[in-house]
Amino acid sequence: MTIARTYAVANQKGGVAKTTTVASLASALSELGKRVLVVDLDPQACLTFSLGLDPDSLDLSIHDVLLGRVSARMVVVSTAEGPDLLPATIELAGCEAMLLTKTGREYVLRHALDEVRDRYDVILIDCGPTLGVLTLNALTAADDVIVPLQCETLSHRGVGQLLDTVHDVQRLTNPQLHVLGVLPTLYDGRTNHTRAVLADVALRYGLDVLDPPIPRSIRFAEAPAIGHSIMRTARRTPGAVAYRLLAGRLVGAPDDPEAVAFLAAHAGHRQIDLTEPARDRA
Ligand code: ADP
Ligand code: MG
Repeated sequence: MTIARTYAVANQKGGVAKTTTVASLASALSELGKRVLVVDLDPQACLTFSLGLDPDSLDLSIHDVLLGRVSARMVVVSTAEGPDLLPATIELAGCEAMLLTKTGREYVLRHALDEVRDRYDVILIDCGPTLGVLTLNALTAADDVIVPLQCETLSHRGVGQLLDTVHDVQRLTNPQLHVLGVLPTLYDGRTNHTRAVLADVALRYGLDVLDPPIPRSIRFAEAPAIGHSIMRTARRTPGAVAYRLLAGRLVGAPDDPEAVAFLAAHAGHRQIDLTEPARDRA
């Protein structure tokens, strides 16, 4: 029996590709034959939408689980994309306030997921753009944190706050929590600025940089509208190939040499070598 490894995808900044990362990695891991559960922990329910479900039509959602009304098993739905989903609705917005009055409020998701962990190989939690009690629940339930980062000026400021929160969680509710690293998203390796920001964040906070970075691609914007991730709608784009390679690396699968060659050939992709001095990179 396997017990799922649980990843929280978190960054309190919006628009850094948290939801895209969760949907794409989940789809790629399903393709690899892994049993995957994704958890939508954002009241905006973008992940739920992007996997083809209409939040307004759902009778039960993660909200009911967090309030202790039903078990996670009763709320999990399967998706056409492959992974199972614990869906969100806008009701989740009210959950934050209700959880605040509860004892053990940071542990609610962890306990709910304990019930289903033996059914999956990987659980991915999509956090909303806050460091509130929902994100604390995600970090308390997770083994690892992945921090998607759009490499632009001042990106590092949010990372410091997030890491402070992670350290609090490590001290108080989840000593096992591990920061896997930052994942460069919307990445344009051709610009010196992007690479300099990334190197700065990695060195400043002592964080690993996950590889490959996810290239910026217009196809990502189109996918959620069709209810499928880019993994289905644009399989051979650099973004999809990068997520597939990353998914394989997460579960220790050997690299697909074709994917590596494809990314290397893609204009703008450049291996990140953090051993180079920053001034050479910039
Ligand atoms: P978050 O969940 O962090 O708020 P999203 O995953 O919703 O971020 O992504 C924000 C926007 O950026 C969406 O419109 C999404 O389609 C787009 N996007 C995500 N990844 C990429 C990419 N690699 N290239 C281009 N657009 C992207
Ligand atoms: Mg999101």
